[in-house]
Amino acid sequence: MKGIVLWAAAMAAALGLAACGPQGVDGRRIEAAKASDWLSYGRTYDEQRFSPLDQVNRDTASRLGVAWWAEFDTDRGQEATPLVADGVLYTTTAWSKVYAFDAATGKRLWTYDPQVPGEKGFNACCDVVNRGVALWGGRAYVGTIDGRLIALDAKTGKVAWTVQTTDPALPYTITGAPRAVKGKILIGNGGAEYPVRGYVSAYDAATGKLAWRFHFTPNPKNAPDGAASDKVLHDVAYATWGDGAWKLGGGGATPWDAITYDPKDDLVFIGTGNAGPWDGNIRSGGQGDNLFAASIVALRPDTGEYVWHYQTTPRDDWDYDAVQQLMVADLPISGQTRRVVMQANKNGFFYVLDAATGKLVSAEKFIPANWAERVDLATGRPVEAPGARYHGEEASRQTPGALGGHNWQPMAFSPTEGLVYIPAQISQGSYADPGEFRFTPGAWNTAMRRGDPKPGDAALKVTLGSAADVPPKGELLAWDPVAQKARWSVPFPQSWRSGVLATAGGLVFHAAGHEFIAFDAATGKPLWRYDAGADPIAAASTYAIKGEQYVALMVGYGGAGGMGGDQPRRPGRLLVFKLDGKVSPPPYAEPPEHPLLDLAAATPSKGDKARGEGLYLQFCAQCHGRGAFLPNLTRSPAILEPDGFQSIVIGGALKPHGMAPFKRFFDEAGAEDLRAYLLDQAEHPPAEAATAAPDHAR
Ligand code: CA
Repeated sequence: MKGIVLWAAAMAAALGLAACGPQGVDGRRIEAAKASDWLSYGRTYDEQRFSPLDQVNRDTASRLGVAWWAEFDTDRGQEATPLVADGVLYTTTAWSKVYAFDAATGKRLWTYDPQVPGEKGFNACCDVVNRGVALWGGRAYVGTIDGRLIALDAKTGKVAWTVQTTDPALPYTITGAPRAVKGKILIGNGGAEYPVRGYVSAYDAATGKLAWRFHFTPNPKNAPDGAASDKVLHDVAYATWGDGAWKLGGGGATPWDAITYDPKDDLVFIGTGNAGPWDGNIRSGGQGDNLFAASIVALRPDTGEYVWHYQTTPRDDWDYDAVQQLMVADLPISGQTRRVVMQANKNGFFYVLDAATGKLVSAEKFIPANWAERVDLATGRPVEAPGARYHGEEASRQTPGALGGHNWQPMAFSPTEGLVYIPAQISQGSYADPGEFRFTPGAWNTAMRRGDPKPGDAALKVTLGSAADVPPKGELLAWDPVAQKARWSVPFPQSWRSGVLATAGGLVFHAAGHEFIAFDAATGKPLWRYDAGADPIAAASTYAIKGEQYVALMVGYGGAGGMGGDQPRRPGRLLVFKLDGKVSPPPYAEPPEHPLLDLAAATPSKGDKARGEGLYLQFCAQCHGRGAFLPNLTRSPAILEPDGFQSIVIGGALKPHGMAPFKRFFDEAGAEDLRAYLLDQAEHPPAEAATAAPDHAR
């Protein structure tokens, strides 16, 4: 026996194979991952989120119980997919913190806190979330909210190298998981609402040296950036921005989620964010397609060389990011097997593209979408509905809105059922040009009319109107990507829900509200439910240790939709289930009530409350609006006294908690105007209908 072990070790050394343990994660392992592992964000390179494990199945799912759990030190949104390699589970929390656990016992092995400065939270449009790590060699890689990419020793959590991937002076963020491809770590960025200029970077996994970078909007002077994107931006993209590139910020097109490698075609597919500012009249004089915003772009992983692109929303005016997961599969189409890339886009269309060429195979609506009638298969372009392009006094109220028909929450594919399971949602949005617009560097610059134009708003002619006027809700859709139609669907009152996991056990895992549910993958029948005590929005992953299958889920509400909700703040948790698990995590403590303020104790304000409202809508509402995930300012004792309010808003007293000082945007007088508005709101709480959240973006 000993001889065989020695022989095996010698053979491994001769073949250059790494020893067991995290050192062993490489491209071959990710491409053909063992059923027991979950090695990359979407499990394998194809991002199908399908596990071959079947111990937990239609017959046994009812026996699922908690095997172990952990609680985290943050109550912000949790979006990570836990990765598992060689018995170790790696996950991340809000504020880009990394955790490693023994995947069988839950014993915490190490933690890493990148110490993101709290005020950097201001740059995150949609909460300080993080979607997880990449594994390669013996390391775990994480992107941070302040734009760093950090390589950690997978055994100890010690930093191997750190690179700043973005200009810290600009409002870039990283929320997405890195991907590891051919010895390189690929990482994107976010910030298209501010906007910034989106790009993807590839770093050498061993050294952290930049290998290549690809920008998704043109250089403003049509000059070279010294990047892989230079030629195609100069030759193709620049001319699509009216009379010379983007006018403000950086044009957006930030690749903040989808990065998918296809080893067969040796291509990396990247989804890009919305064009910015949202209003195309301000962005590019209403001209051109604005490449490569709202697009799927295929690049060579070795060099970043451009190969093809498909733009899902030409000259996007509606925050229709194309960053949703890009899933590769071999599908039977018209009598032949075709390798395709699939995306359930924010704009409401499900796209099937040829993976090698980017040619559109099919596109159909998976959710009500009234901004376009259809996608023309000959041209590949949407046939827009009249009125979707708002201008002057014409507003468009349409579906999907800025939250999209499907957002970042991952979908899953079952090859056995031939179905894609989409966490779809019905959202609506109002879009109107802002009249006079002043670009504010570093701040929210969507160039939308302030407030939320409603149908019937006397000042606006609403062009798409009542057809879009449906309450937000959601559906788990079992989508046949060949026939381009739903096989079954399960409706939910919640629009903002979790991602999806599919397994060979014939199960689909999805959470809505507090409930984590296992559905029959063939019929949508619920087979098991668990009350998580808070709303999960992340996608579950599954793995096996010593023959036992586990299902892991990050719990914690937040993100774009969560910030407009009325959820109490609860610390994030990781719940791990197995058959006959017997652990009972304690219920969450009831969150403290926030009573109405005693306004008799307030120092009255002489500030200009109308100006204060403008400041509130521009700088505060995205995070503190309706309800909300961050404190409702009309119930904050901080507004009672001018000095205390100034110390927070101008002086930055709560900076470590993520409340950036706003003195770069307005002065003490502005802060007092804001206080005057908030006191007035506290005294005259608006009727429910008028307190609708601003259309949150992502
Ligand atoms: Ca966006």
